Amino acid sequence: MRTGIGNAQHAAQVPTGMWLGTSLLAANRGQQFAVDDPATEAVIAEVADTTEKDWFDALDLAEQARPEWEATSPRERSELLREIFNEIVRRKDEFAVAMSCEMGKPFAEALGEVAYGAEYFRWFAEEAVRSNGRVAPAPAGNGTIIVTRKPVGTVVAITPWNFPLAMATRKIAPALAAGCPIIVKPAAETPLTLLLLGEVIAGVCLKLGAPNGIVSILPTTDAAGFSSSLMKDPRVKKVTFTGSTGVGKLLVRQSADNLQRTSMELGGNAPFVVAEDADLDLVLTCAMQAKMRNGGEACIAANRFLVHEAVAEAFVDKLTASMQAVRTGHGLEEGTTLGPIITRKQRDRIAELVDEAIAGGARATTGGSTPSGQGYFYPATVLVDVPEDARILREEIFGPVATVTTFASNEEAVAKANATEFGLAAYAFTENVHTAQYFASRLEAGMVGINRGAISDPAAPFGGIKQSGFGREGGTEGIEEYQHVQYLAWT
Ligand code: NAD
Repeated sequence: MRTGIGNAQHAAQVPTGMWLGTSLLAANRGQQFAVDDPATEAVIAEVADTTEKDWFDALDLAEQARPEWEATSPRERSELLREIFNEIVRRKDEFAVAMSCEMGKPFAEALGEVAYGAEYFRWFAEEAVRSNGRVAPAPAGNGTIIVTRKPVGTVVAITPWNFPLAMATRKIAPALAAGCPIIVKPAAETPLTLLLLGEVIAGVCLKLGAPNGIVSILPTTDAAGFSSSLMKDPRVKKVTFTGSTGVGKLLVRQSADNLQRTSMELGGNAPFVVAEDADLDLVLTCAMQAKMRNGGEACIAANRFLVHEAVAEAFVDKLTASMQAVRTGHGLEEGTTLGPIITRKQRDRIAELVDEAIAGGARATTGGSTPSGQGYFYPATVLVDVPEDARILREEIFGPVATVTTFASNEEAVAKANATEFGLAAYAFTENVHTAQYFASRLEAGMVGINRGAISDPAAPFGGIKQSGFGREGGTEGIEEYQHVQYLAWT
């Protein structure tokens, strides 16, 4: 139940079964599904395709482990998390190979995600022992208010393909830190990275004697069946999801019957505002980070560049040159800075958004057409003169396409930036502290970067408002998603 992936220079052995606690098993019915490499379209692994019996075996095991795990001291939980961090870092190359092969990101970026994803274990190892409550005098003078935090119970997590490791570690680490068992379903496009994480977690659990069943990892092609059947079981107390807004809404509806707690990290449509006085060299560096990290397949990717009309031409020239310097290829190939899109369907969706915008009057200063040949590639593209009603300005692009539109005043910039149903990330660039404050206080987003193109940090609360969801991952807030509050009225 392991297979080799990669090439002569970068290779890894990855598990292909499911992790039922610390056991690597075939799916109950023995079925498997194929995982392909989006750069070559070749099948690289056949992975256990779990069904209902497997899901409930994992839930039964989690429930068996729960009382002991809840009673484990915060220090022991912390040490387990810290050891998982150490092991991921030690095996970073294997994780990066898995991500480059199944998701397509360049190897250097994959290593970046390993460091970022692992950091959630280190951060929550530190938070596990600092889960403080509060004590306050009752205003009436008749007692003391004591507030403590307790683990919510067994968690179900559903994760996307774009950051196969980090989108899961930011759920698994705080759940374990809080004392909750967790059952994880990776995206069917990218199960290998999490199966490798399962191997690391199982090894550490066995070494440190943690109860069996605190983490199970269950790949399946039946995502809808997985969530709907598990959520019908009242033993599931919390559902945490990262993915599209449509699926998020469905899960929130499903949570109503058992009033399960939910955290929803959903889609985005981030504006990237460049004021007249911005430092254009800094803007360019940050624009490339905010647009091209993960090939634009990021929920906080800059979707709409809004540039003051006085600097728009200079910005477009610089951005076009930088996008032309991007090198497309297989993630494991030396020098690749842009990998393939995850699937043919996603690639064709991006092409459709670009074609529609061009038909409506937009112009591509570089890129803009689908290459022929193997792999789901799409070139780095810059679109100018994009019509205001173009679908590409309303929908999440999720690809290496930058749209540039202009504004004449900061008021207009804010109005355009906020003209979206989403509210995950927003970016603003200016050399003036008052303008910075103006944007920071008016941009409707859960996260705002001022003169910064990279904002993710395990020590900061990641999450959105509006249709981008609710709940926070990381920071001191992240562990609270897995705790409920108990108030003790004391004499
Ligand atoms: P998706 O919603 O299709 O899939 C995400 C996960 O949900 C996968 O594991 C998938 O198998 C599962 N899923 C699909 N249909 C389901 C159903 N009916 N019931 C239960 N689970 C189901 O999203 P995607 O296209 O794979 O991922 C991209 C989306 O994720 C984008 O919209 C992106 O913005 C979002 N995203 C958000 C964040 C964030 O933190 N806010 C981070 C990364 C990605």
